Amino acid sequence: MTLIDGKAIAQKTHAASKAAVAALQARGVTPGLAVVLVGDDPASRAYVRSKDKMCLELGMHSVKHELPADTAQADLIALVQKLNDDPSIHGILVQSPPPPHINERAIIETIDPRKDVDGFHPINVAKLALGDADGFVPCTPLGCQRLLIESAIETAGANVVVLGRSMIVGKPLALLLMNKGKGGDATVTVAHSRTKHLAEVCRGADILIAAIGRPEFVRADYVKDGAVVIDVGINRVEDPTSPKGYKIVGDVAFAEVAPKCRAITPVPGGVGPMTIAMLMANTIASAQRFAAS
Ligand code: NAP
Repeated sequence: MTLIDGKAIAQKTHAASKAAVAALQARGVTPGLAVVLVGDDPASRAYVRSKDKMCLELGMHSVKHELPADTAQADLIALVQKLNDDPSIHGILVQSPPPPHINERAIIETIDPRKDVDGFHPINVAKLALGDADGFVPCTPLGCQRLLIESAIETAGANVVVLGRSMIVGKPLALLLMNKGKGGDATVTVAHSRTKHLAEVCRGADILIAAIGRPEFVRADYVKDGAVVIDVGINRVEDPTSPKGYKIVGDVAFAEVAPKCRAITPVPGGVGPMTIAMLMANTIASAQRFAAS
């Protein structure tokens, strides 16, 4: 069994990103990412801080807007429009989830699709569905695909089961893996909470990708011998032995599934580090496109 080392693959991606930033800087362009956070959710704050830190490590320009939880929708839209018009910003990300009074869809649709490095704008969703490489693909699915490519796991002709159909992970990942080209050409099945005979469906997978947000849901009987398992899940569960009182587990029961696998990602240290690596890569790609236009 091979443990797919997401941290190491993310480091390799960051090294390539650092070189790309240096090449852009030599041409007078510094890739810039703006992250907007509304409210004070501690997990979201931690995500925003880590994005800011990574930008600085790679030599990128980073702007953080931390707004109070009662920020009006109109003010948030005005800020996004300002960032759309700011030539020093190539990527805009509004941290999800916003407070309930904010219409997230309307905010995403305000972002200039050319700066939508999260890949959630309808234009970018459509480009992914069309197989148009000019768009932006959401970072977590892109990270999963990169893990497979870097681990030399062939997707062409493979039976892939994606467990979960969210717009953040499952659905774009299914599109990505079924599109033509490297890291694609797979035969994809998407399963969800209404899928019948779920264990049997999952057992048909050469590559099983779990993105459901249910701690250790995927058990050994869901996995065929020799399958590749990618665990996207990040779930906090109580752990009295930990000083924090909790630990993070994936959607896969790692201890019982791993021995059956050809390769598997751990949690933490698998898909997680790839998401931020792909965010940096998307922002740099945006800066390259703006510089070329
Ligand atoms: P989500 O929006 O809640 O979607 C969950 C999906 O799983 C839905 O399609 C749901 O089906 C399906 N599902 C839920 N329970 C199920 C069950 N018992 N059997 C079959 N399908 C079931 O979650 P998400 O945003 O996609 O995130 C999924 C997981 O990935 C979470 O643990 C999240 O923390 C993690 N995540 C990690 C990263 C990363 O960077 N590593 C990034 C994003 C998300 P229905 O559509 O039928 O309800």
